[in-house]
Amino acid sequence: MHTNDNDLVDVDPFGPEEPPTTIPVYKRNQAPEGLATKRQLKELGLRPGGQQVVAEVETRGPKNGFLYEIALAKPVRPMTLAKEYALDKAMAARQTCPECGRRFFYCLRISLGICLECHEGTPADPTSYLNGPASPTAA
Ligand SMILES: [Zn+2]
Repeated sequence: MHTNDNDLVDVDPFGPEEPPTTIPVYKRNQAPEGLATKRQLKELGLRPGGQQVVAEVETRGPKNGFLYEIALAKPVRPMTLAKEYALDKAMAARQTCPECGRRFFYCLRISLGICLECHEGTPADPTSYLNGPASPTAA
């Protein structure tokens, strides 16, 4: 017996009353005021905050960027401890002299890569660094 199941497969699961789920796509730099990409939000100190993407914008890349409503955006979360720690680690790498292991309160000259004292013997101002764990002369 033939049940003609194929007729049922074609049914739209969202029903005929539902509006299409496509969102507008704008050309580059033609997005309306009040909408911003994630990156633009970030520049404003904002994040999408769980809101739906309201539109797309064409980008130079193969994928469209998503646009969010600035009015619904939320302020960027304060830095998490993990982020702070990662940042501190990055700073520490730039502030720590690999020769003497002292961490300075300023970034070492990148061209030298070591502190002035190790480089040319100019004693470092004791108030300008923390005693590094590797320093054998730590008082
Ligand atoms: Zn040093």
